[in-house]
Parts: sequence; structure tokens; C-alpha cells
Amino acid sequence: MSSYFKTFTAGVEQRNPHQPEFIQAVKEVVEDIIPYIEEHAKELIDQKLLERISEPERVISFRVTWLDDKNRVQVNRGYRVQMNSALGPYKGGLRFSPTVNLSILKFLAFEQIFKNSLTGLPLGGGKGGSDFDPKGKSDNEIMRFCQSFMTELFRHIGSETDVPAGDIGVGEREIGFLFGQYKRLQNNFTGVLTGKGPSWGGSYIRPEATGFGLLYFVERMFYENQNSLKGKVITISGAGNVAYYAAIKALSLGAKVITVSNSNGTIYDENGFTVEKLDYVNSLNRNLAEYTKRYPAEYHEGKKPWGFKCDIALPCATQNELDEQDAKTLIANGCMCIAEGANMPSTAEAIKVILKAKILYAPGKAANAGGVAVSGLEMSQNRIGQQWSTDKVDARLKKIMHDIHDTCVHYGKDSNGVINYLKGANIGGFVKVADAMRAQGVV
Ligand code: NDP
Repeated sequence: MSSYFKTFTAGVEQRNPHQPEFIQAVKEVVEDIIPYIEEHAKELIDQKLLERISEPERVISFRVTWLDDKNRVQVNRGYRVQMNSALGPYKGGLRFSPTVNLSILKFLAFEQIFKNSLTGLPLGGGKGGSDFDPKGKSDNEIMRFCQSFMTELFRHIGSETDVPAGDIGVGEREIGFLFGQYKRLQNNFTGVLTGKGPSWGGSYIRPEATGFGLLYFVERMFYENQNSLKGKVITISGAGNVAYYAAIKALSLGAKVITVSNSNGTIYDENGFTVEKLDYVNSLNRNLAEYTKRYPAEYHEGKKPWGFKCDIALPCATQNELDEQDAKTLIANGCMCIAEGANMPSTAEAIKVILKAKILYAPGKAANAGGVAVSGLEMSQNRIGQQWSTDKVDARLKKIMHDIHDTCVHYGKDSNGVINYLKGANIGGFVKVADAMRAQGVV
């Protein structure tokens, strides 16, 4: 590694103490970008472009006070990280989870810059959320929390400023409560949030977009390698939005899905899930062990899905859920592709193992960009006051995912024809943002 890499990463570590996830995300990206800059655009070093892109334009942290069902006062912390607006309004989800902290939101906002750039849509990067735990809360508690959260957030966002969406713990119900409060405070029905219900400004295919987009990306990778998804065995982690729609699309493309999981354990269904079985998983309210009472299958308490033999692994739950040993096990069992539905699910050590084995590897910033892409399409529909058909949005999603794939190939293919999709995504996402930042002066 060059001396610039060493001084730059030392600076990031020194400025962001106790933020391991953020430092991990920055290092992973600059490992590819710095050699590229040193070869093609040395002037960016003096312009401190990497120092600027790794520093949020603004971080907002605020108190969220609300009353639970027993009229007790509860206090949480809310955040919005407005990371980069070179390409458009800040755009990225809100996460409600007790695991939320500034390091995690900064890593997600940083990744979002490159992901949004790859979609080709005019979107900046941001992320936000709260350490509020929605699990076990009543609808009224969720509503009161969302209203209090928006009572501060509303002054920092807007349809041309910052447009949040959902993420872990924030689905259509929460977006509804947040939107209702924004509208009440601003007296303005505007596209300030995406992931809205289709009858009140939402886009068709938004719920499906991340999972479907992941499979469109994987399908294209296999096509590029003269292969197809027909008959391939897939392990999926997670049982939430991304995992569900990834599984549904995988089935429709002729693959067999044998696992889903959550933070408690994994269901292994050797016969493969069907749509009906996946809907049953959804109805279990996180109690996955119940599945084995209706279908012949195994439930593995506390276990991740990566020990089961598969052709393709799709981590769709959370960050750092696939470690070095998991990667080694998958590869030893013949896995030929790991594609990330979640954000940064593979640890840095796991990525090294995967790249060394030269199996197909689709990083989240490229492979899970379908969600934000359809959010971008939702913003376009809101601006012109129209709602596009399911088929139209799905076709645009597919085209965007194929274009992202081709960008990764363009920037990631070496002289021997080997494609490093991670490098391709990092450089492909970076080039456009860097051009815009340069054009907009020292800001
Ligand atoms: P959901 O909240 O709908 O589902 C998350 C799933 O992951 C749940 O099944 C949850 O289980 C599981 N999970 C969470 N933490 C852990 C853990 N530590 N170990 C094992 N399982 C865990 O979220 P989404 O499906 O929306 O998001 C999943 C991932 O995809 C996240 O990384 C998100 O940032 C990313 N993503 C989502 C997009 C979207 O459009 N929704 C867009 C792009 C990326 P449990 O219920 O037990 O917590």
C-alpha cells in the first residue's frame, strides 16, 4: 500500500475514534480508489477529495422523547447523517434498532454515496435512524415515537434537500406515521419520504425493489459467465423485507432457496421454500422454530445459514454477519457466488478470502442498490404527480441493475478478463461523485 493510503487511513482513524464500522467502510472503499487516483487523477490528492468525501457535510443528533402505553416517559436518540450532496438531495434510509449508533450510520451513509451514484440517478448520500427498538412495541407506541422523531427531523429534510426512506425496523407503517407528522408540521403534501403506500404517493415495486434488484444483478453476473440461475441452490440470511423478496424472485428464476434466518436462528428446508412457505414464515412473527411444526424442515437455534451446502449465498440481514470462517466454509462447500442484499454483511477478512478464491462476489453497494433506485423513481413520480405501472417500474429497475453490473465490469475487469466487482463498484461509484465535487469547487 502507498504512503498516501497509510496517511489517509491514519487520519480517518484519528478523526473517528470508536467508530469501527465507519473506518471499516472507508478503508474498504479507498483500498480500490487510491490506486486508481494515483494512476489516473493525482490532482485529487492535493484537492483533498478523499478527506472531503469521508467527512459528513452535516450530522444531526437529537433527543426523541415519547410516552409509552403506560404513560411513562421514554427517551431515545435520533440521528441524520447528511453525507454528500454532490449528485442530488441526500438520500438514504432510516434505521430503528437498539444497535444504531453514529459509527453504523456514518458507515451506511458513506456506502450510500457510491451506491446512489451507481444507480445513475441524481441522488446524494445520507442515512439516519434511532436506537429505538420497535420490537414488542404497540402500533400506538410506534406512532408516538415516529411523531416525536419527525418533530425534530422535519426542519432538516425536504423533497429537494434530504429524502429519507426505510431500512431495518422502518417499513411502510413507520413511513406512514413519519409522513403524516411531516405533513402536519409543514402543511405540505410532498415527496419528502420514499417507501410510501402506493395509494398516497408511493411507487409500485418499492417493497420488492431491493430483493428483486439483487436477483437481477446475480442473474446478470451468471449470464456474463455463461451460466444461469436455473436449479441453483441458494442460502439466504434474514427473514425481513430484502430476504423475502430476494427469495420470491429467486424462485421465479428457477432457483431453490433452502434457508432463511433471523437473529435467533435459521430454518433449513431441504425441499426448498415455496411462496406459500415464505408467506408462512412471514406470519410467524419472528418465531421461526414454529415452521417445523407445519413443514418437514430443521430449525437451528443460534446458527447462521452459511454452514449449509449451496451454489449461491445471499446475506440479507445485517452488517458483518458473514465472517472469515463462514466464507471459508461456503467456499469449501462449493459455493460459487456470494451476493450481498444487506449493507456490508461480509467482514473485511471474509472479503479477502472470497476475493482470493476468485468466486463471484457482488458487494452490497452494487447488488442492493435496487431499493434506492426505485426510491429515486418514486421521487421522479412525485415531482411530476404521476404513478407509473408495476411493469414500467420493474423494467426500469431491471435496466438499472444491469447497468450497475456493466459499470462494475467496466471498472473491475483486469487484463486477464477476471472481474473484481468490488473494485468495479467502488471506482464506478466514485468517479461520478468526484467529477461533480470537483466541478462544484472547494465546498
Ligand atoms: P428488515 O428489518 O425487514 O429485516 C431484517 C432481517 O435481518 C430480520 O429478519 C432480522 O431478524 C435479521 N437480522 C437483523 N439483525 C440480525 C443479526 N444480528 N443476526 C441475524 N439476523 C439479523 O430489514 P431489511 O430487510 O429492510 O434490511 C436488511 C438489510 O438490507 C440491512 O442491512 C439493510 O441496511 C439492507 N438494505 C435494505 C434495503 C431496503 O430497501 N429495505 C435497501 C438496501 C439495503 P430479527 O427480526 O430477529 O432482528
